[in-house]
Amino acid sequence: MTAGQRHGRIAVVSPAPTANGDLHLGHLAGPFLAADVFTRHQRAAGREAVLGTGAQDTSTFVVTTARRLGTEPEHLVADSTARIEATLTALGIAVDGFSRDEERFTKLVLDFHGRLHAAGKLELKPVRFPYRPSTGEYLVDGFVKGGCPVCLTEGCAGLCESCGHPLAAGDLIDPRSTEDPQEELELRELPVLVLPLEQYRERLREYFERTGAALRPHMAQAVREMLAAPLPDFPVTYPGAWGIPAQFPEVPGQVINPNAETMAWSMYTTALGAERRGEVLQADDQLWWPEAGTEVVYFLGFDNTFPFAVAGVAMLMALEGRYALPARFVTNEFYELDHQKFSTSRGHLVWGQELADRLPRDVGRYHLAATSPEYQRTNFGWEQLAAVTGARLVAPWNRIVEKDAALAGRTLPVSAASRRAADRITARFAAAYGSEGFSLNRAAETLAEQLGRLDRWEATERQAGDFAHQVRTVLRCAAPVLVDLAAEAVAGGALDSLAVGGPDTTTEVTVRPLPRIPVGGD
Ligand SMILES: [Zn+2]
Repeated sequence: MTAGQRHGRIAVVSPAPTANGDLHLGHLAGPFLAADVFTRHQRAAGREAVLGTGAQDTSTFVVTTARRLGTEPEHLVADSTARIEATLTALGIAVDGFSRDEERFTKLVLDFHGRLHAAGKLELKPVRFPYRPSTGEYLVDGFVKGGCPVCLTEGCAGLCESCGHPLAAGDLIDPRSTEDPQEELELRELPVLVLPLEQYRERLREYFERTGAALRPHMAQAVREMLAAPLPDFPVTYPGAWGIPAQFPEVPGQVINPNAETMAWSMYTTALGAERRGEVLQADDQLWWPEAGTEVVYFLGFDNTFPFAVAGVAMLMALEGRYALPARFVTNEFYELDHQKFSTSRGHLVWGQELADRLPRDVGRYHLAATSPEYQRTNFGWEQLAAVTGARLVAPWNRIVEKDAALAGRTLPVSAASRRAADRITARFAAAYGSEGFSLNRAAETLAEQLGRLDRWEATERQAGDFAHQVRTVLRCAAPVLVDLAAEAVAGGALDSLAVGGPDTTTEVTVRPLPRIPVGGD
């Protein structure tokens, strides 16, 4: 039995970004880098882990963006999907399962909702929508904007980016069509299939009592607010021409609400990832069956709380024990550029590719980790990046490499005190990487502190082995963030593996040269 089997598989899921553009640093500094670092650490600690994401093509924002750009939605999806995948690769986000517009996914979504429908869990109810008399369209999500009735912030229907509450199009304050804000809208009722969430409120409350201790405060607050009052009906189908056509006779011409795809999509991306790692599955949702023993951990933007953690978990509950429930949700807030929110439509952003092109990606990853918006909005700036990474990472590391190079070729003894220090270093990093208190910020701080210590250490001849030993311990612990540096150190024989955990038993170290971090002009 391997360690992976002993602890069960871990499925790391980060919601697929909308296929209406490339990824900018706001996406990367939020869920994706965190999911990647977490997954890499789990594997280094001996656990089988699968990372899944993708590109979501069913969102109405694909249609609204295509209109703005004067292109066809299908072209935008194809182009954006390729870019998203390329950017993740460029930044070293090692995704196992990457979902895209595929028949197999559509089938899984329809099977999932078919099961809810067959079990009598969905109800046909009249729901109010803003209606455009000029086109005969009922407006949902990206097609309509207005004020949020909970927090009064202006935004599109669906989900409120600000307070995280679901935002029914018919409840918007002063709704306007995003295509023609001048047009006078009507409110009309239309029967759609809903999941009556209120029936699951008590079970959701128990679920969050059990699992919610590690939630970050903003999500904890939003969940508390939502569960303090009766929950709304959650539309599983709604009117529209873009999306997966619902196949229920009572709602002709409707599509599956993209925000109701969350759980079927999560299962799909987990399955793709496991297959890519060599598993053979009998069913696409198999890894989510309770007997599979998979621990599901989400890394997601705060505004995805409702569709994944509330409506999504309620959908799983409605299927009565067929599926295990997610173990953990790790949220992030917005990342800002020059103290304003990233905005694709206003061109106020830095693309992920630009970061990868301008710097060694380890340096970019370190900076995003150091400034990741874990608890509140944080800011990106190129000058700040140069200052932070120069002083805390590049300069100290390259000085350490130089000191270490003076020992090259020698085999040196490692003391018991150094083994104890190595165990403490490993434990500090593990505390930052573990799912309970996961924090990229703290991982970056821990690394800066350890590099500072090693940089200042004037090792005597007697301590030379201890110095070389601890430098290698720190690099092994930093490997989930500094992916290229660690890989180069393994390839060059400076590190024998990236595995962490278990008491350190090193008694001697043979010093082989460590890689430098290239700086401008290198
Ligand atoms: Zn709101």
